Amino acid sequence: MKTFWHEFLSVRRALRQNIELRSKRGLWLIGDDGHTMDREKAINVFMDTLAAGIEYLPLSNKPCEGWSDKTGCPGHARKDTGEDESP
Ligand SMILES: [Zn+2]
Repeated sequence: MKTFWHEFLSVRRALRQNIELRSKRGLWLIGDDGHTMDREKAINVFMDTLAAGIEYLPLSNKPCEGWSDKTGCPGHARKDTGEDESP
């Protein structure tokens, strides 16, 4: 058996990266208008997200059994078929 994890984002790490970023362009966030958010706006969104008690955001649109906003994807056991596939 192998374990796989759904992709997810650490809000804390993304916030830190945006704070450390020298460029005005933000990383990781696309606004409702489809454009990359500027750095200040992205920092505020990540701060609001952390203030709401959310540490991790899912990046996969596939269902994740056991997902937690505090710990992310718990990892899932799968049979070792020798193929690299996710459910
Ligand atoms: Zn998962």
